[in-house]
Amino acid sequence: MTYPAGTPTRPLRLIWLQSGGCGGCTLSLLGQQEPDLVTALRAAHVEVLWHPSLSEATGAEARAILDAAADGTQPVDILCLEGSVIHGPNGTGGFHLMAGTGRPMRDMIGAIAAHATHIIAVGSCAAFGGITAGGGNAVEAGGLAYNGTRAGGLLGAGFRARGGLPVINIAGCPIHPGWFVDTILQLAGGTLSAADLDEWERPLAYTSQLVHHGCARNEYYEFKASAEELGDLGCMMENLGCKGTQARADCNTRAWNGSGSCLTGGYPCINCTAPGFEEPGHSFSATPKISGIPIGLPTDMPKAWFVALASLSKAATPRRLKENAARPTPAILPRDRRKEGA
Ligand code: SF4
Ligand code: SF4
Repeated sequence: MTYPAGTPTRPLRLIWLQSGGCGGCTLSLLGQQEPDLVTALRAAHVEVLWHPSLSEATGAEARAILDAAADGTQPVDILCLEGSVIHGPNGTGGFHLMAGTGRPMRDMIGAIAAHATHIIAVGSCAAFGGITAGGGNAVEAGGLAYNGTRAGGLLGAGFRARGGLPVINIAGCPIHPGWFVDTILQLAGGTLSAADLDEWERPLAYTSQLVHHGCARNEYYEFKASAEELGDLGCMMENLGCKGTQARADCNTRAWNGSGSCLTGGYPCINCTAPGFEEPGHSFSATPKISGIPIGLPTDMPKAWFVALASLSKAATPRRLKENAARPTPAILPRDRRKEGA
């Protein structure tokens, strides 16, 4: 196998830790396709020193690897954290002790991070606190470099890993496995720089577009033909809380599990790649409105324009879209008007 210029001749050694999360990011990662995960890691020249779901090491062997990484005797090129950092109760970290050690996982994460060349927050929990930090946040969950939108987190504002990059936040709940594989390949090729990250240090490779791009419901959106219930065909922005016009990710142009996205599955986008998505202040499938106008308008469109365009579009909605929007299956199919009687 040949590797691009800049690729280290030895494998990149990767450690993956899990803390305050649901394991869903690993589950999603295992679904990597074309190529499968093992092939993708091989292509990136990555050696997994430890991953809770991929490793065969016993408890004692795993502890030895992690202890060596924490004291710097085992070099680590990429430290991945899945799940948020748990600081509770009362800042002790005692709510999540590392199995078999009595040591707060938070301390182990910090110790390995101090030696790692690159650090990846896998998922919105590790990036910003995520679902684990929702509600009253009784467990005192936070991210590696952010607590919600506040810089800081476990590693502190302005933190840079030994390789010079900030924590790379592959935010999402869960991540798309392709977002992770792209990042690993860029790191392996030595081509990932700070300029390849957005304002939340998320890889631009997947946040340079909106979830709205490529949504199969765009025709309904254009004419403001809206779904009324989950499972309806229409656009879910007006009534069902869809944030696809504000959310940054390529979910509708990069298929999940080889086929679709939340939107194609009939559920609105909840903007899970953004800090604070877990606390929208209302049900995920409701659209808060003032005087009938949704509060969360497209990111870069002035409100007055949206209102004017929406009423024009509604006036021009083709009958087919109007009829089909609030139904789970189309009542009217597209027809070629040149066909007699169509
Ligand atoms: S980001 Fe979401 S899917 Fe990933 S560990 Fe956290 S809660 Fe689970
Ligand atoms: S359902 Fe959401 S993502 Fe799809 S077209 Fe409507 S606003 Fe855009």
